[in-house]
Amino acid sequence: MATELKRRSSFIDPSEIGKPAPRQRRHKRSATGYLPEKDAKTGAEVWPRGDATTWKSGMRGGVEADVGEISKNIVHHVQTSLARQAYNIDDAGAYQAVALAARDDLIINWNDTQMCYTQKAPKRAYYLSLEWLMGRTLDNALLNLGLKEKFRSSTDKLGFTLEDLIDQERDAGLGNGGLGRLAACYIDSSASSELPVWGYGLRYHYGIFQQFISPDGSQLEAPDPWLENANAWELPRFDVTYDVRFFGHAERIGNNRAVWSGGQEVMAVAYDVPIPGYETRNTNNIRLWDSKPKRGFDLNSFNAGDYERALEASNSASQITAVLYPNDNHWLGKELRLKQQYFWTAASLADIVRRFKNLDKSFSEFPDYVAIQLNDTHPTLAIPELMRILVDEEEVDWNEAWNITRRTFAYTNHTVLPEALEKWPVPLIQNLLPRHMQIIFDLNLTFLQAVEKVFPKDTERLARMSLIQEGVPQYVRMANLACIGSHTVNGVAELHSQLVQTNILKDFVEFYGRDKFRNVTNGITPRRWLDQCNPRLSALIAGKLGSKAFLKDLFQLEGILKWVDDADFQREWREVKHANKERLANYVRSTLGSDINTDAMFDVQVKRIHEYKRQTMNIFGVIHRYLTLKAMTPAQRKATTARAIFFAGKAAPGYYIAKLCIRLIVNVSKIINEDPDTKEYLTMHFLPDYSVSLAEILIPASDISQHISTAGTEASGTSNMKFCLNGGLLLGTVDGANIEIAEEVGEDNVFFFGHLTPAVEDLRHQHVYHPVPVEERSPALANVLKEIQSGRFGDPSPYEPLLNTIYQNDYYLVSDDFDSYIQANEIIDKEYKSDPVGWVKKSITTSAKMGKFSSDRAIMNYAEEIWNIEKTTLD
Ligand SMILES: *Cc1c(COP(=O)(O)O)cnc(C)c1O
Repeated sequence: MATELKRRSSFIDPSEIGKPAPRQRRHKRSATGYLPEKDAKTGAEVWPRGDATTWKSGMRGGVEADVGEISKNIVHHVQTSLARQAYNIDDAGAYQAVALAARDDLIINWNDTQMCYTQKAPKRAYYLSLEWLMGRTLDNALLNLGLKEKFRSSTDKLGFTLEDLIDQERDAGLGNGGLGRLAACYIDSSASSELPVWGYGLRYHYGIFQQFISPDGSQLEAPDPWLENANAWELPRFDVTYDVRFFGHAERIGNNRAVWSGGQEVMAVAYDVPIPGYETRNTNNIRLWDSKPKRGFDLNSFNAGDYERALEASNSASQITAVLYPNDNHWLGKELRLKQQYFWTAASLADIVRRFKNLDKSFSEFPDYVAIQLNDTHPTLAIPELMRILVDEEEVDWNEAWNITRRTFAYTNHTVLPEALEKWPVPLIQNLLPRHMQIIFDLNLTFLQAVEKVFPKDTERLARMSLIQEGVPQYVRMANLACIGSHTVNGVAELHSQLVQTNILKDFVEFYGRDKFRNVTNGITPRRWLDQCNPRLSALIAGKLGSKAFLKDLFQLEGILKWVDDADFQREWREVKHANKERLANYVRSTLGSDINTDAMFDVQVKRIHEYKRQTMNIFGVIHRYLTLKAMTPAQRKATTARAIFFAGKAAPGYYIAKLCIRLIVNVSKIINEDPDTKEYLTMHFLPDYSVSLAEILIPASDISQHISTAGTEASGTSNMKFCLNGGLLLGTVDGANIEIAEEVGEDNVFFFGHLTPAVEDLRHQHVYHPVPVEERSPALANVLKEIQSGRFGDPSPYEPLLNTIYQNDYYLVSDDFDSYIQANEIIDKEYKSDPVGWVKKSITTSAKMGKFSSDRAIMNYAEEIWNIEKTTLD
C-alpha cells in the first residue's frame, strides 16, 4: 500500500517551454539560509544577482546563450542522461540535469582549450597537489561562464528555484584545509588568467570526513561518500591509463642504470575535472587518478578458481585511492599514504612525459616545455621518478638527467612546524620502491660530495643537509630532497619565507645562494570568495564602480574608497553585512535550532582545530568574558557590546588535544547560551562539519574574525584574506599573511596583539627551564582555568590533559599572550559600540585594499618568476 504521494511535477513538458510556469512552486528556505529579497517597487521576490554585466551576457561554446535552448537542454538531460520522466522530478534530479547542461558548455570550452594548447604547444605548468578542496561547482561554473542569470530564467520557467538546486550539490572535499583550498583557488586563477596550467591529484572515493557532535560534545567522524550520487563534474578517461609498479627488485646494469621488475602493478585511470575561467572560454583541467586492479590481475589465482586470493589483489589496488588522510599540518608515516604519493606522482609524470614525447623534441628541451610545481613535499617522489624515467627508460645520461630534473621542478614549502615535516623510513621505501631508494642514495652521495667541497670537514653540516637522517631506522628527509631537486623553493608569505631560509633550509641557502629561495604570498580567488559567496556586496561594489571588472583585477576595488565617507554608501554597506548576518542566523536556526541576535557583533574563528591556531585561547577568552559579565550589574551589562561567537573546524581523528578543545567549546556554549543573565550579550556556537560551503555562509557575515596563531607558526593563512575581502576586520597575531594584510589595509584597521616571532623561542625556553606559574603569567587566565576545574561547565575531568598543556610547557604561549588578547578584545568592543561610523569605514577600507591577495596576483608571480610560462588565449 502506498504511504506517500509522489510529488507532483513541477517540471513542465518541453513543448510548454517559453510559456509561463503553471504554478510557481512555493519557495522553502534553502539550507544555506538564503532568502530572496522583496523588490521595493514591484514587491516581487528577487535573488541577489550573480552575473557579470560586461561579458557578452553569457556564451555557450562561443555563441550567445538562449534561455529556451538552455531549458530544452535541461529537459533533454532529464529524459536521456537521467532516464527519468519530466513530470516526476525532484530537486535532486533537477540539480543533476542542470549540472549536466552546464557541463555541456564546459566540455565544449575544455575541448577547444586543449586543442589550442596542443596546436600552440606553449610551455605548460603542472600543479601537483595531493589535496583539492573544491567545494561545490555549479554556482561557480555558471558565474564563470556568465550563464547564471540565463540558467535562473530557465529553471524558473521549469518551476525550480536555482538556489535550491545549487543547494543539492555535495561539496568535493578532497582536502583538509588551507593547502587544498589554495590549490583550488590557483587552478581557478590559472584558467581566468588564461595560463596553461593543469592540476594533478587523486580521486579519493571518500573525502574529508563528515563531522558530527555527540551529546557529550565530542567530535564524531563519519565517512564522506561524496561519489555516492553521480558526479557531473568529472569525465572518466578509460583510455588514459598507466600501470604503476610497487615492490619487486631493482637490478643495476651499469652507467647508473637499473632494471626494476617484479612486484605488483596497479592501474591508474584518469578522471578529468574541467575548470572554467572567469569571462574567458579558457577552461583548464584537473586530472585525478583512480586506482584499479591491472587488467588481468592475478591471473593465476583466477585461473585456479581461487577467487578470494584474486579479489585480495583487486581490493588492495582499489584501496590506494579510497580515502583522504585527515591530517592537517601533521605527518603520519603510514605505508598506504606513501603508496598514494607514489601512485599519484608516477601516473602524473607518465602522463606529462607522454605528452612531451608527442612534441618530438629532445629530452634536453623538457624544461623548456614543462614546469612542475610541488605543493608541499607530498609529491617529492616525482624527483627520483623523473630520474628513473630519464635514466632507466629513456637512457639519458645521469648528469644530464639530473640537470633536466632540477630545471623542471619547483617546491613550495607550507610549514616550519617540525611535526609536519615528512620523513619516510628507509626500509619502507626500500621495500615499496627499491629503485627509488637506490636513486636517492646515489643523489645523496654526489650532493654531499659537492657540499663537502664548499664546506670541507664540516661534518655536522653534512649530517644536517644529508637526504638521510641517520639512526635505526634511517629516514629520508623529503624537504631536503625537494630542495635539491628543484630550481626554486618558495614560502607562502613574507615572514614564513624568511623563516624557511633562516631555520629549516638555512644550510641550503648558504650552499646554493639566496636566488633559489623566494616568497610567493598566497592568494584567494575573488570569484568564489566575493562574487559567489557575497552576491549582495559584489553587486553593491559593481554598482559604484560601474562593472564587475574588479573581479578580474582586484586592485580596482580601491575605487570604492571614493565613497568611504558617503553616508548612503556606508548605510548600504552595513545593510549588506546585516543581510549576511541574517542569512547565517537562518542557517544556525535551521541546523542547531539556536536563535541569534543579529545586532550583536559576529565574531568568527573557523579553521582546522590545532594547538598552534589556538582555538583554546579563544574559548578561554569567551569564558573570561562570561565571568566578567556575570560579575556586572544589569545596568553595567547593558553598556557592553553584545557578541555572538562562532567556531567551526575539524580535528584530525587521532589528535586528542584538538578533540578535547571541541568538546570544551560545545559544553561551555551549552551553559553560556542558557544563562538568562548574560545570553542577551554573549552567545557562542560551534557549527559542525566545517566545509567550503559553510565558509561561504560564515565569511560574509563576520564583523571580526580571529587568526591568532602563535607568532611564527602559521605559514600564511588564507581565511584571513577571505574575511577581510568581505569587510570583516581582523583580530590577529603578528604572523603569516596577517602582517601583509596590515601593510595593505593599514595597521589602524587591524587589531594586533601578542608576542612577536623573535620572542617565541626565549619564552619557550623559559617555560621549560625557568617556569613561572600561570597565576603569575596571567591571573585572568589562571582564574578561567580554575573555573573550568571547579565543574562550572560540567565534569572537568575530561579536560585535564588539555588544561595541562597550559599548566605544563605551554608550548604555544597561550598564557604569555592572554592578557594582550583580552585587551585587544576590549578595544574592539569599545570601537564597535561607540563608533559605528568609524567601524564601517574600517570595514570598507579593509575590503578596498585587498587587491594584493587575489590568487590572480599569486598565480602570475608563479607564472612569471618560477614557471616562465605565458598567457595562451583561446581565440
Ligand atoms: C580557506 C579555508 C581554510 C583555510 O583557513 P585558515 O584559517 O587559513 O587555516 C580551511 N578550510 C576551508 C573550508 C577554507 O575555505
